[in-house]
Amino acid sequence: MRVLFASSEVFPLVKTGGLADVSGALPAALGAINVDVRVLLPGYPAAMDAAQGKRQVANLGDPFGIDAETKLISAKLPGSGVPMWLIDCPALFDRAGGPYLDATGADYADNAVRFGLLSWAAALLSTEGSPLKWRPQVLHANDWQTGLAAAYLHAWKPAEKPGSLFTIHNIAYQGLVTKDWLPRLNLPWEMYQIDGLEYYDNVSFLKAGLFYSDRISTVSRRYAKEIQAAPFGSGMEGLLAERAGDLSGILNGADYSIWNPAEDKLLATRYAAADYVAGKAANKAALQAELGLDQDPDAPLLVVVSRLADIKGMDLVLEALPLILRQGAQLAVVGAGDRSLEDAFRAAAANAPRQVAVEIGYSEALAHRLMAAGDMLLLPSRYEPCGLTQFYAFRYGTVPIAHATGGLADTVADTSYDSLMTGTATGFVFEHASLGAFQWCIERATELFRQKDNWRRIQAAGIAQDFSWKRSAERYLAHYEALTQQPAGTAA
Ligand code: ADP
Repeated sequence: MRVLFASSEVFPLVKTGGLADVSGALPAALGAINVDVRVLLPGYPAAMDAAQGKRQVANLGDPFGIDAETKLISAKLPGSGVPMWLIDCPALFDRAGGPYLDATGADYADNAVRFGLLSWAAALLSTEGSPLKWRPQVLHANDWQTGLAAAYLHAWKPAEKPGSLFTIHNIAYQGLVTKDWLPRLNLPWEMYQIDGLEYYDNVSFLKAGLFYSDRISTVSRRYAKEIQAAPFGSGMEGLLAERAGDLSGILNGADYSIWNPAEDKLLATRYAAADYVAGKAANKAALQAELGLDQDPDAPLLVVVSRLADIKGMDLVLEALPLILRQGAQLAVVGAGDRSLEDAFRAAAANAPRQVAVEIGYSEALAHRLMAAGDMLLLPSRYEPCGLTQFYAFRYGTVPIAHATGGLADTVADTSYDSLMTGTATGFVFEHASLGAFQWCIERATELFRQKDNWRRIQAAGIAQDFSWKRSAERYLAHYEALTQQPAGTAA
């Protein structure tokens, strides 16, 4: 099975969120079950610098008339060695800011062309127009940045069309651009309609992917259901409900080569699964010292590793803080995002420095140390397509407190008398994203934390969970096989 996996971010080369983790780990897991998978990624400076064994394999010309040539570079992903192609177009990708936003936090004005080119290249490499010998049987595109790939396949009507799978990692980002971009992206006006890529008088890259791909997946079963209705569908619910038969949920996995407390070099003390009680205690003491928190092994340590955004429920964490402090618990946060939330978290730490520690920014090292030291991980997301940090928390013996949405609902099992006795409880779950429900969950958790035997049952059940990528990779392979067996077609 040959698969081209197109993505706008891939760990460890470039990462703004979970999409990068998936794009770094899933291709490697597919490779391990003999799928011949190649990753396609824009040649951002960080990616060009870190990619290994770079070699130019083709000149793709200047498809959008921007007075700059695009070259295709073959390379290997550091770590896993997965083969990849980088789209080398410095005029579009060699920028000082992030992959999507400039240094001031604004979208690049030419994102339509930047990700139009990524989509176009993905389609080109999948069809007879490709300058390469290798051609995929399936084009696997991810999120809005690659949404136009299926539109190009539809427009070009190639003799041999690959199967196309489009995966939604986050439906809230839709790649909306004004319609005057359409001719500049070499797409015909016939496709600019409700049954096509038009979306409220604009072009939506995301809708193009949803409409023209043969199959759609998203990253949990619950989220696949949720996005067929408002508000979760973010305006795409009608289309998704119509395509429900082509839509499935495949859970992400955790990269246990990176998230394994027994081999985690970022920790103060590494610990094997069998020694998690002592290991966590040592890491908690070290973290409390590092962050200036009270050296108190009995104070429940609640941790947050998250983007600071309302959709992550971070406002609820701030509102629940007085209760957390009254309980004698501690809160340690590593996160970045909305300025107002960043300021509010900073102020909270300044007000109670011995109970609250906040690091604003992105820190892989601190994220690992919080997972190891924490007693509970707070996950009050308003929506969460899959979520990854709950998997890491399980492996590190940290108990998630999660809102029952998307992948959190599918993977965290609430603690009740029954689930505790049967050893199936792995966390604390609340149904409604309200402060009251969240606080009730925190109270239940801190109370159980003091009952050491019961608490260890929950931790042990979490540690025993297996969310390895192998399982997810097998499910993706089943989808690829289904796509190559049925005659290729589109929804149109
Ligand atoms: P999303 O993609 O919506 O941000 P996920 O839970 O799917 O949420 O993925 C978030 C990823 O980013 C996880 O790997 C998490 O550990 C990491 N992460 C988020 N914020 C930070 C931070 N401030 N420092 C380090 N890692 C972070």
